[in-house]
Amino acid sequence: MTIRLAVPNKGRLQQPTANMLKQGGLSYEKTDRALSVPVKNMDLEILFVRTDDVSEFVADGVADLGITGIDLLTESAADLEIITKLGYGSCRLTAAVPKISDIMTLDDLAGARIATSHPVTTQRFFEERSIPITTVSLSGSVEVAPKLDIADAIVDLVSSGSTMLINGLRPIANVLESEAVLVGRPGASLQNGTVAQIILTIQSVVAARTKRYVMMNAPAAAVASIEAIIPGFAAPTVIPLAHDHMVAIHSVVDSARLGSVLPELKDAGATGILVLPIDQLIA
Ligand code: AMP
Repeated sequence: MTIRLAVPNKGRLQQPTANMLKQGGLSYEKTDRALSVPVKNMDLEILFVRTDDVSEFVADGVADLGITGIDLLTESAADLEIITKLGYGSCRLTAAVPKISDIMTLDDLAGARIATSHPVTTQRFFEERSIPITTVSLSGSVEVAPKLDIADAIVDLVSSGSTMLINGLRPIANVLESEAVLVGRPGASLQNGTVAQIILTIQSVVAARTKRYVMMNAPAAAVASIEAIIPGFAAPTVIPLAHDHMVAIHSVVDSARLGSVLPELKDAGATGILVLPIDQLIA
């Protein structure tokens, strides 16, 4: 049976999701109007749906797997399992008030009207803290609600926070941290066949994003000190070169460490250092 993966058809998560699937080697041709396309090299069909609807499609069994934001998953009633966090679409749901407001803390929001496109998550957050509020449900332009006097505060998605500042709003507290996630139905068999293949493919792309493949030449006598700098998974690969006493060394390094690792390798005697991206990594 063909497996179905529901992905966002537009919006912020669309392009990074397409990039991730391409990087994982999935080959398909999307046209603007197609609602679903077959993947040529896997028994898989990709469904293009609104980001908000992904959870519903997976929960209903129309799709086996889906890609959406934690915020949308939390907001939907769907009982789904997060299989893997995907490392993009990072944002937070933040409570904010107009700069001139007297409201300073979460407790000060007792009795407030809060405009949000995430009413379920907002209501639950304040209920858990026993702070009574009322939500004003809006599907967009949440940040203008206080100016229009239809709300005293907002709970909205931000990445950098600059849009809130531009709109004269002051953050009070974070309600939820979000990023894109791969989701499935709890209890569904995720270990077998195409489903397992897709999960491993996506996890391998996510794992590769934070790593680089580093290659260099070095005197054989420097191998021990270079291995101490870049131990790799089990050990670095060491290959003899045509010239005596020289070797090539290959290893995998955290990209975050590269800035400090490269000068250390140079000092240890490495030359011709190359840093390459990795498409997929299964440790
Ligand atoms: P869309 O409305 O289709 O562009 O997708 C919105 C989804 O992208 C949200 O539900 C979040 O999961 C994610 N996202 C990431 N950063 C932001 C942001 N700064 N504002 C809104 N949504 C964001």
